[in-house]
Amino acid sequence: MTLPMKQHLIDPEICIRCYTCEMSCPVGAIEHDDNNVVVNADSCDECMACIPVCPTGSIDNWRIVAEPYSLEEQYGWEELPEQEDIALAAGGDTDDDDPIAALLAEAHKGAGGRPVAPASAARPSVNLYPLSKPVAAIVQGNYRLTDDPDHDVRHIILDFGGQSFPVLEGQSIGILPPGEDAEGRAHLPRLYSVSSPRDGERPNFHNVSLTVKREPGGVCSTYLCDLEQGAEVRVTGPWGQTFLMPQDPDARLLMICTGTGSAPMRAFTMHRQRAMAGGDGDMVLFFGARTPESLPYFGPLKKVPDTMLKKHLVFSRIEGQPKEYVQDRLIAAQDDVAAMLSDPATHIYICGLRGMEEGVERAFTSIAESIGEHWAALRDKMRDDGRYHVETY
Ligand code: NAP
Repeated sequence: MTLPMKQHLIDPEICIRCYTCEMSCPVGAIEHDDNNVVVNADSCDECMACIPVCPTGSIDNWRIVAEPYSLEEQYGWEELPEQEDIALAAGGDTDDDDPIAALLAEAHKGAGGRPVAPASAARPSVNLYPLSKPVAAIVQGNYRLTDDPDHDVRHIILDFGGQSFPVLEGQSIGILPPGEDAEGRAHLPRLYSVSSPRDGERPNFHNVSLTVKREPGGVCSTYLCDLEQGAEVRVTGPWGQTFLMPQDPDARLLMICTGTGSAPMRAFTMHRQRAMAGGDGDMVLFFGARTPESLPYFGPLKKVPDTMLKKHLVFSRIEGQPKEYVQDRLIAAQDDVAAMLSDPATHIYICGLRGMEEGVERAFTSIAESIGEHWAALRDKMRDDGRYHVETY
C-alpha cells in the first residue's frame, strides 16, 4: 500500500505568471513553461518561502495524493484536479480523526489565508493570451500624469482592435518588453494592473489603460514610458481572479493605495460612476504620494464629487510639513474607518508598495481594538468572505 502524501501545487486558473514564487524558492523546486508554473514534488520541502510572496494565493494549494502529480501532468493543466478520495485510491484509513483533513489544515497553516473574490464579482477571463501566444495591441495614447520632473508616471492606452481582450477592474495584463536579458533569454512579461473599467478607457471601445511609473534602469517601464502613439505592444493575460470589485451597488469600498497602486482604484471608481451609480454603497480612498505633483490623476481625481468618492490624499514629502503615510491618515480618520470595519457591506482593497502593508495592518489593529474587535480575526473573516484584498509589490 502507498502511503498518501501532501503535494504542493499551483492553481493555473488563478496564477498570474509573475514567477515570484520561482524566484523565492530556496531549493529550485518551482519552474515554468509557456503555459504553467509547476512544483516539483521530489524537491519541494514545504518551507513555505513562496507562500507570502504570491500576489494571488494561487501558490497556496495542496492535495493529498497516493502518487504525486508529475511535472508533465501539471504543465498540461488548465485547472487544478479535485482532491481524490485517497481512502479508496490508496487503501488508507481516513476514518480516525480524518487524517487527510488534518494534513490539509496543517498545510495551510501560516500561509496567510487564501484570497477569495467578492461573492457578487463578475467572472473574469484569464490566460486568454499566454506567453506562447501574446496578442498585439496598438498604443492609442501615452500621457504624462505627473508634474514632478523626478517622477514620471504615464497613462498609457492600448487598443486591441477587433481582437477580444475582456478585462475586469482589478485584473492585470502582462507586457512583453522586446529584447533579451543579460543571459540572452527573451524578457519575461511584466504585470500591470489595468486602470480602466471593463467597457474601456472610452466607454464601449474596450481599450485598456495602464498607469506606469518610469523606474530608473527599469526594462519594461522604460519601454512603456517611451512608447509612441501607433507602436505595437505584445500583451499576455488577462490575469487575476480575486482582486475584483463586488457587482453590488450597495457594497462599500474602502480603498488604500500608494503611487501607481492607484490603478485598480481608478478602474473601480470609473466603473461605479458609469454603471453602478445610485446604490447605497460609498467609496472611500486613502491615497499616498510624495507630493500633489507626483500623485497620478491628481487633477481628475479632485473633480470626482465627494458624494461619490471620499478622498484622503496623503503626502509624505511636502516641504515644511510632517511626513504623512496612508496608515497615519487611517488613524486620523479612525471613527469613519471603524464604522466601515463594522459594516458587513464593506470591502477593503490595498494596492501599492509592499512596505505599507505592515503600517496599514497596525492601523487596522488599533482601529479594530477601539470598537472591541480583534483585527486578525476580522481580517481573516473578511478575506474568507471575499471582502479583503491586498496586491502589493
Ligand atoms: P512612491 O511614489 O514611491 O510612493 C508613494 C507613497 O508611498 C510615497 O508617499 C511614499 O513615501 C509612501 N511610502 C513609502 N513607504 C511607505 C510605507 N512603508 N508605508 C506607507 N507609505 C509608504 O510609489 P510608486 O513608486 O508609485 O510605487 C507604487 C508601487 O505600487 C510600486 O511598487 C508598484 O510596483 C506598485 N504597483 C503598481 C501597479 C501598477 O499597475 N502600476 C499595481 C500595483 C502595484 P516616501 O517615499 O516619501 O517615504
